[in-house]
Amino acid sequence: MFKTILLAYDGSDHAKNALKVAAGLAKTYDAALSLVHTPELDTPPIVIGSFVAPLDTPPSKDQIVKAGQAIVDQAKAEATALGVEITNVHLGGIAPAEVILNAAKKDGSDLIVLGRRGLGTLRSLALGSVSQSVTHGAKCACLTVL
Ligand code: ATP
Ligand code: MG
Repeated sequence: MFKTILLAYDGSDHAKNALKVAAGLAKTYDAALSLVHTPELDTPPIVIGSFVAPLDTPPSKDQIVKAGQAIVDQAKAEATALGVEITNVHLGGIAPAEVILNAAKKDGSDLIVLGRRGLGTLRSLALGSVSQSVTHGAKCACLTVL
């Protein structure tokens, strides 16, 4: 049913749940699993992926790249532990939703898996802004995981 699955991963607990679901589906359907991650920057505090550090100065480009790579490495290791290899990685960009939709287009994904919420703190909204934009813009099936 699904042949090319794209996991959108920001290092949040929701994204970790999405990883488990995406890995399970990849196994079930013998599908290829790709990952997309855009390092994010919010001040204060400075948040890059799952790294939270109260810094006086903004992080350097190098720190952002390193944090993004660490998030990707963490997800790859987790997928391997679940018995699935992430075979393709899209890392970078500025606007996560746009990057996710472009990655899905490039891969020809037939399913995007992402968390309902992420690293943000707007708990009153049912869906995060990235989930909303991707769900609205996706040209394939989209699964939001609690
Ligand atoms: P908001 O960012 O609007 O404050 P939020 O952080 O709670 O809200 P989203 O950002 O929409 O929620 O995150 C929902 C899901 O989207 C995440 O669990 C993850 O799967 C994906 N996602 C969010 N940000 C990124 C990112 N920078 N890179 C890759 N995937 C992301
Ligand atoms: Mg977010």
